[in-house]
Amino acid sequence: MTDEVAKPKRVRKVAEPILYPITDEDWLEIKHYVEKWRPLLGLKDWRISLMKKRYKGKDLGWVEMFLDAKLARVWVSESWGSEPKDPGEAEQFVIHELLHVRNKGMLAFAADHGASSHEDVLSEEHSQINILEDLLFNAYGDKHGPVQTK
Ligand SMILES: [Zn+2]
Repeated sequence: MTDEVAKPKRVRKVAEPILYPITDEDWLEIKHYVEKWRPLLGLKDWRISLMKKRYKGKDLGWVEMFLDAKLARVWVSESWGSEPKDPGEAEQFVIHELLHVRNKGMLAFAADHGASSHEDVLSEEHSQINILEDLLFNAYGDKHGPVQTK
């Protein structure tokens, strides 16, 4: 193996196929939990839409919010199925993202009123969300998901 030659790097122009694309079943489950948690978290006056997006890495998704329009877009990774999911993971994902929506107004208010460092506030928010997500899921979640969504 002395004459092994390094392969030249190629510029990849065609996107790789998604190996474990999100299934219709996953999508319906996420949708079901958005409808379950929207009123529980006091977000009935928000429009929450689900969108798909291709992510690098293992992110399940994130949420984009438009406070004035009371519109939130929950972006879900197209490779949702690439990691095995625990029962309840879809529900916890939804609880987590909707808690961000729940807090949006407070964070905007804090920023407007000179919260010393907005990044610190966001990181504090995230640690609270992780605690609340677990509490809410343990109290009200469907532990044995996935539920029948049809
Ligand atoms: Zn988060």
